[in-house]
Amino acid sequence: MAEKKPVIVIGGGIAGLTAASLLAHEGLSVTLLESHYQPGGCAGTFKRGPYVFDVGATQIAGLEYAGSHARIFRHLSLQLPSAQILDPACLVDLADGSEPINIWHDPHKWKKERQKQFPNSEHFWSLCKLIHNSNWSFSSRDPVLPIGNTWDLIELFKAIRLPNLATGLLTTLSIADLISICGCSNDYRLRHFLDLQLRLYSQAPANKTAALYGATVLQMAQAPLGLWHLEGSMQVLSNYLSRSFCKNGGKLLLRHRVVRLQIAANQNSWTVHVRGPDGKIMHLDAFDVVCSLPPQSLIELMPLGSGLPQNYLQRIKQLPKPSGAIVFYGVISRIALPENVPLHVQLGVESPGPYFLSISREGDGRAPIGQATLIASAFTVTNDWNFLNEEAYQDKKQIVINKILKTINEYFGFTTADWIHQELATPRSFAYWTGRPEGIVGGLGQLPSNFGLFGLPSRTPMNGLWLCGDSIHPGEGTAGVTQSALMASRQIMARRGLKINLRH
Ligand SMILES: Cc1cc2nc3c(=O)[nH]c(=O)nc-3n(C[C@H](O)[C@H](O)[C@H](O)COP(=O)(O)OP(=O)(O)OC[C@H]3O[C@@H](n4cnc5c(N)ncnc54)[C@H](O)[C@@H]3O)c2cc1C
Repeated sequence: MAEKKPVIVIGGGIAGLTAASLLAHEGLSVTLLESHYQPGGCAGTFKRGPYVFDVGATQIAGLEYAGSHARIFRHLSLQLPSAQILDPACLVDLADGSEPINIWHDPHKWKKERQKQFPNSEHFWSLCKLIHNSNWSFSSRDPVLPIGNTWDLIELFKAIRLPNLATGLLTTLSIADLISICGCSNDYRLRHFLDLQLRLYSQAPANKTAALYGATVLQMAQAPLGLWHLEGSMQVLSNYLSRSFCKNGGKLLLRHRVVRLQIAANQNSWTVHVRGPDGKIMHLDAFDVVCSLPPQSLIELMPLGSGLPQNYLQRIKQLPKPSGAIVFYGVISRIALPENVPLHVQLGVESPGPYFLSISREGDGRAPIGQATLIASAFTVTNDWNFLNEEAYQDKKQIVINKILKTINEYFGFTTADWIHQELATPRSFAYWTGRPEGIVGGLGQLPSNFGLFGLPSRTPMNGLWLCGDSIHPGEGTAGVTQSALMASRQIMARRGLKINLRH
């Protein structure tokens, strides 16, 4: 029976959990191996006394009816977690003394805001909307990208419509090219705003972000889509998926770290070497393995002799190096916060910014009444942290904490006495807690050269080894990795002559 051939999913972040839940729901025998003592990965949480901090992701897309989380949750007969729409989704302060920009949820209000903030840029926004509409309908038909075999090609063709062929012609362009086509190249404020926003979602500024990707992320905050704030914490998303997985017969093994992957001599099955909580190594066999870790992890998991083809190894080694992140987790007296402060603020200051600030809502489960968690994240170069000795590392951490505090205190007018808690995570922390090599976060960066057709496929050259997560199309964010997990799950089912019937 095709259903009985075992599947092992490596990693219980949102990608691994989604793939595992979908496959268990289809009746497959699935084991999910997660190295941490809780699932969630970069979209998990940690506790400090009465405070709950979202580790990485703090806002979520894909909860609208046709959104990727909503579709999967409906399919799994799960209720969506309680969430509040973010309006504004973010307040963007360019830190040049000019009026900050509110990214409103209501499209009309957002149009008025951008006409006031960036006069003469409407052609650019209209073009982005056209591209986005075409992209959105395309992606809702679940295309397989990039393609690896005939089945993938057929699924891709099934998703393509005429407008997609037209927007497909823009594949090699960047957002900066669209700006220039629309005659707004001289609007430096617009460019600064776009650079800041795109860095958040694609790890690249406007001149490097693929037009087809950027046009969509620039419309994510507006109805009928939107960005949400989860009640409780980000952890609820993983908890719901884990419960569904276990209810459907899935086996969730926490504190089980995969240390090696080996393809069988007949190239038709896998042995997964796992270190359990007692430190002992066990060997599990699988017909299919879904690896939701960054693809760079395969370099360590599949040393010479494990069956990793040389040319694939080279491809992985040559992938663009993703960024790391520094994340400041603080608690502040709510009384010190300005009235009506939005839950998310992007501050365009440099070194070590720009920062993305996330503030908890009163009573949302993250801090006691009268206090708020305040998280500030910024990208960093992983090598700046990973080769320091302990003393230099602690010194650098303190310097960065001081810089962050100085900026935030100046911005909001806080004093030292307003702070209740402060700590900093660095690439080392992410490497330790999420197992991501060198603490790299996010995906590969959404450049035209590795977006869509040119990205790393979920189908690997090794029979039965599949990738999903934020390095696989359509990229980072919980909504994005959910789509990559759906794609890998459909491919696994197709390999067994089966199909996932996900409603639209
Ligand atoms: C600072 C920051 C802010 C972000 N903000 C947002 C946001 O606001 N909204 C948003 O949508 N996205 C955001 N993201 C991105 C988002 O969090 C990620 O894209 C997404 O959560 C990645 O999910 P994943 O399942 O692909 O990987 P991960 O979350 O990294 O999950 C991988 C899992 O595998 C486990 N693991 C690792 N190695 C092993 C091993 N050898 N054996 C077994 N298990 C292993 C890890 O413990 C982890 O649980 C942010 C990310 C960061 C870092």
